[in-house]
Amino acid sequence: MQIRCNHCNKPFALKKEEIVAALDSLQEQNLHHYNAYCPHCRRANRISRAELEHAAPDWKPTKKESHPSESE
Ligand SMILES: [Zn+2]
Repeated sequence: MQIRCNHCNKPFALKKEEIVAALDSLQEQNLHHYNAYCPHCRRANRISRAELEHAAPDWKPTKKESHPSESE
């Protein structure tokens, strides 16, 4: 996906594997934004989870196996 940096206004690309990894970590940490670092100015750009999901439509949240002893 193409991102335009909010700080220096230059475009940069986020690779599919980075998007998938970002979605995994957002899911894991229950976050709603991913910080994508601009390669030009190295500052963080907040990318919403919805934008990431749109860019990687085949990504599915991986449900963690809960312990059998735990109740729902
Ligand atoms: Zn930048």
